[in-house]
Amino acid sequence: MERKRVLITGAAGFLGSHLCDRFIKEDYHVIAMDNLITGDLQNIEHLFSLENFEFCHHDVSKYVYVPGKLDYILHFASPASPIDYLKIPIQTLKVGSLGTHNLLGLAKNKNARMIIASTSEVYGDPSVNPQPEEYWGNVNPVGPRGVYDEAKRFQEAMTMAYHTFHGLETRIVRIFNTYGPRMRLNDGRVLPAFIGQALRGEDLTVFGDGSQTRSFCYVDDLVEGIYRLLLSDYSQPVNIGNPDEITIGQFAEEIIKLTGTTQKVIYKELPTDDPKQRRPDITKARAILDWEPKVNRADGLKITYEYFKNLPAEALVNKEH
Ligand code: NAD
Ligand code: UDP
Repeated sequence: MERKRVLITGAAGFLGSHLCDRFIKEDYHVIAMDNLITGDLQNIEHLFSLENFEFCHHDVSKYVYVPGKLDYILHFASPASPIDYLKIPIQTLKVGSLGTHNLLGLAKNKNARMIIASTSEVYGDPSVNPQPEEYWGNVNPVGPRGVYDEAKRFQEAMTMAYHTFHGLETRIVRIFNTYGPRMRLNDGRVLPAFIGQALRGEDLTVFGDGSQTRSFCYVDDLVEGIYRLLLSDYSQPVNIGNPDEITIGQFAEEIIKLTGTTQKVIYKELPTDDPKQRRPDITKARAILDWEPKVNRADGLKITYEYFKNLPAEALVNKEH
């Protein structure tokens, strides 16, 4: 039987590369697209020799063309860490808006089903906890995070419009903080930041007083949820994340224990509009996808720490701050 063909954008990034692995494992033909602005080919180089894998270096904010049939499009291209999207704010807005429009057009041409990587950031600094999909959010459009949050909100609106007005098969996953191997050690997100600091023998930088919360999901759980959502017939947004909520202060303590570092926590200014709490309500994912996370934080952190520990020494040099 002919293989199903899937286009994955942002394929050289953290999540995109794990999605490539999953679709290769399921025997799809994978077309991986990326402009490498925050990604790294090393994340997918183990797939290059496969006959059912191809890489296309392309900026999806420009017209996207893919020859042949396409069954699915997974649009995961976008800077995702606060330091990345603050460094490249216009590209972030463009990939969420123009990039999404280009890919929806491609999906319509090919009669392909498309899933977009939305985010818990559409809820902004939420006034309800946990956040259900029905919550409309509390986002500052002109604050520093607005370039990411509003791009993602527009992306959802545009995707829903293609679904409603063109009858396109679409899926929207709202991803909550996810971690695992292949995160960039220096991307500024809290987990690589803390582990990088521990490995370099630096103090761990907690922003604010550390009372803000996040809920961390291990990457394999997320990928399973995305896979199930794509194959489901549900076109409204679905939260995928791990509801095990923790304060950033407690999280720093967990990393100190895990790594055995003798360094301490130091406090730095809380970034503008940093959400105070974040925890997914996963009632829908449970009911519709029969999905819930399986990997607890202690196990996920151990695997992730091993990955970072085994990186070559030069990966530890922090060139990004
Ligand atoms: P990442 O930075 O590791 O990967 C993003 C990839 O997209 C990179 O390889 C980058 O080079 C590529 N890219 C960016 N702009 C592009 C463009 N214009 N054209 C082609 N490629 C482009 O980030 P990630 O953590 O893997 O995030 C992937 C997706 O998931 C993003 O859309 C992000 O918004 C979303 N998301 C991630 C998380 C998380 O916790 N990791 C949470 C919510 C949402
Ligand atoms: N954070 C921190 N120290 C760091 C990096 C981040 O205390 O070195 C905090 C940050 O202010 C936020 C939380 O950790 O409250 C998660 O930050 P991250 O950038 O990982 O994700 P996001 O804010 O997008 O959820």
